[in-house]
Amino acid sequence: SFYLNRIQKYDGNLQAFLHVNENALKQAEEADARRAKGEVLPSLAGIPVALKDLIVTDDMPTTCSSRILKGFRAPYNATVTELLKKEGMVILGKLSMDEFAMGSSNETSYYKQTRNPWDLSRVPGGSSGGSAASVAAGFTPVALGSDTGGSIRQPASLCGVVGLKPTYGTVSRFGLIAFASSLDQIGTFSRNAEDGAMVLSAIAGHDPKDSTSAPVAKKDYTAELTGDIKGLKIGIPTEFFAEGLDPVVKAKVEAGIAKLKELGCEPVEISMPHTDYAVSVYYIIATAEASSNLARFDGVKYGYRAESENLYDMYTATRSEGFGAEVKRRIMLGTYVLSAGYYDAYYIKAQKVRTLIKQDFEKAFGKVDAVICPTSPSTAFKFGEKSSNPLEMYLSDIYTISLNLYGGCGLSVPCGFDDKGLPVGMQILGRYFEEGKIMNIAHAYQ
Ligand code: GLN
Repeated sequence: SFYLNRIQKYDGNLQAFLHVNENALKQAEEADARRAKGEVLPSLAGIPVALKDLIVTDDMPTTCSSRILKGFRAPYNATVTELLKKEGMVILGKLSMDEFAMGSSNETSYYKQTRNPWDLSRVPGGSSGGSAASVAAGFTPVALGSDTGGSIRQPASLCGVVGLKPTYGTVSRFGLIAFASSLDQIGTFSRNAEDGAMVLSAIAGHDPKDSTSAPVAKKDYTAELTGDIKGLKIGIPTEFFAEGLDPVVKAKVEAGIAKLKELGCEPVEISMPHTDYAVSVYYIIATAEASSNLARFDGVKYGYRAESENLYDMYTATRSEGFGAEVKRRIMLGTYVLSAGYYDAYYIKAQKVRTLIKQDFEKAFGKVDAVICPTSPSTAFKFGEKSSNPLEMYLSDIYTISLNLYGGCGLSVPCGFDDKGLPVGMQILGRYFEEGKIMNIAHAYQ
């Protein structure tokens, strides 16, 4: 009841929850009662968790913060939902996000704009803003989000919590409403690396229901949190510390690197020359995939349906009224880059540059164990500051996006505060399936 009371008391100000599970308290009490009787339950049993509202749950609505999914209740659970329930975790509710995970500030949500707990006039980041804010505000010890182009790491950085994006394919995407299928990955928000590792251990692993799920064996990620990071080589890419980076953020991340050095890591200067192209490549590939994924929302199968005389008008009216401006912009961009005359010039070209970006990572990871860089070029910005200029908003993803194009794992760990008292995040990027290693670096650092 501690967390539910906090939600009740403070979520009016924070606006993080779209739906609170009315059975949560009962479920937690049941776990307590079974333990009291001497039953041995999994260690996470009874612990609260909250979900970004694009992970489906059969006992609560799922809206993706979109009008088009108003009133939608999935008839099944996502694999992660099932796994959390199997552990006995108590799902507190569903968290606000940018509409269909498109955005970096939570401002594109149809329902509510989550605020940053450190300063209510500022954004929590996005798209998993509700997840980051609710962990930072102590509404839940852990939460799940999704990261397609930074949507776990950037809000974690802006809200001062740990956010982990596992390697593509590590966590099943079955029941995660798709944005860009070659990039989407579910991950964790927590206060420290250990809590994140515990939840990751519960949700990671191969799932036959997701064809892109990797053959990952179940393991206990906390076993890798030894705190010993002596001798690890950490790559510092010059391109990530160049123009456009807030000097205070730069100084804090550099101090973070100095601390890692004290702990025994060896910093190595590296170059990732294709970093400049990451934002352009991402906004071609992600919009192309989104335009295809979002075709299913037509008013027939899910959620909202507009009144209309005939079927064709119903499709058009539902989509016109159901999707917000940013989602429409992405669908139009995506259909444009996939259209017959432009396919080679945009989509194919972007795929080729994606390969070059991947090669930057492969080269780096040939020399170093992890790459360290800032998570976001600035700390939390004010509502409205970037929302009128989509391009400026897209540029705030500059440090997070390349990792999704590569597919490896990455996390953001708090590394201090700026002079306004807003949290700064440091990113630790790792090779495929080395989440244990990067979490151990965060663990030692914290
Ligand atoms: N800011 C990115 C976008 O708007 C974040 C996407 C994400 O990771 N879901 O596309």
